Amino acid sequence: MIPGAFNYHRPASVAEAVGLLATLGDDGRALAGGHSLIPMMKLRLATPANLVDLAGIADLRGIRSEGGDIVIGATTTQHDLIGSDLLAAKVPILRETALVIADPQVRYLGTLGGNVANGDPGNDMPAVMMCLGSTYHIAGKGGERRVAARQFYQGAYVTALQTGDLLTAVRIPVPATGHGYAYEKLKRKVGDYATAAAAVVLRMTDGKVEACSIGLTNVADTPLWAEEAAKILTGSSLDRPTIKRAVAAAEAITSPASDARGPAVYRTKMAGVMLARALARAKSRADA
Ligand SMILES: Cc1cc2nc3c(=O)[nH]c(=O)nc-3n(C[C@H](O)[C@H](O)[C@H](O)COP(=O)(O)OP(=O)(O)OC[C@H]3O[C@@H](n4cnc5c(N)ncnc54)[C@H](O)[C@@H]3O)c2cc1C
Repeated sequence: MIPGAFNYHRPASVAEAVGLLATLGDDGRALAGGHSLIPMMKLRLATPANLVDLAGIADLRGIRSEGGDIVIGATTTQHDLIGSDLLAAKVPILRETALVIADPQVRYLGTLGGNVANGDPGNDMPAVMMCLGSTYHIAGKGGERRVAARQFYQGAYVTALQTGDLLTAVRIPVPATGHGYAYEKLKRKVGDYATAAAAVVLRMTDGKVEACSIGLTNVADTPLWAEEAAKILTGSSLDRPTIKRAVAAAEAITSPASDARGPAVYRTKMAGVMLARALARAKSRADA
């Protein structure tokens, strides 16, 4: 399939990109790695008259420490995340997640910003960002603002981004030293989106869960933050009955579609299975 005609713009700075997007309004669309947008354009499900390519903006790419946070520029690729020693040391769940996104070809071009801004519930990074308590930096007509990942997702392809907004970076609070983590994803084959997936970050003290956060991928119109399930686990030793209650609480907030990945009831159950596996692996990695 061939996309419709469009004008191509290549700004050299964030200010120039924001200016262009503001002027173009609904006729303009940011282009990052193009691995969600271009397929949509080929299917004519997206028909932007103007593409604003972010690839020429050096300030949008890179990974740095800032205070107790890690700040990752929007056009940092999924491949960059996998190769980062800083992330491997401080937020290893990002590497684990990036490694199960698509395949190396997609990851060389696909960006973190595109993955979280896209609003597709099948994208893997949004639930992880909710799990980590991350914040998105957004530049727009009205200046700069920050929106918590947990408040960003409003529906399938509907986010807190407004016309003309550019997501410039993702800010991640560094989890405590010795934390446990896991991203468990069930997919039909290598390169597939999740049938269901679960992200867990937790801290253990004296064999008990001191803090816990859980995100779920592709089991609702938006990524989910399973707050109630995490509350149930906090203070427990991750014993079987408590895990069973937490899994039930997580399953209760899902509302997946029945699709080629399976009927809704199966996908809900798989979210529970992924959560139980992620909890076991996170516990095995945590300093008790
Ligand atoms: C075969 C295949 C398999 C895939 N499998 C997976 C998978 O398993 N898991 C997964 O998570 N993803 C998967 N993807 C999607 C891939 O990860 C995409 O790269 C990603 O979803 C979007 O990132 P991008 O940089 O390519 O964004 P683009 O495609 O360029 O943009 C996506 C959307 O986000 C907007 N956008 C991009 N950057 C910004 C920004 N900085 N500010 C505001 N808006 C912005 C664009 O306007 C567009 O609407 C797959 C893709 C393919 C082709």
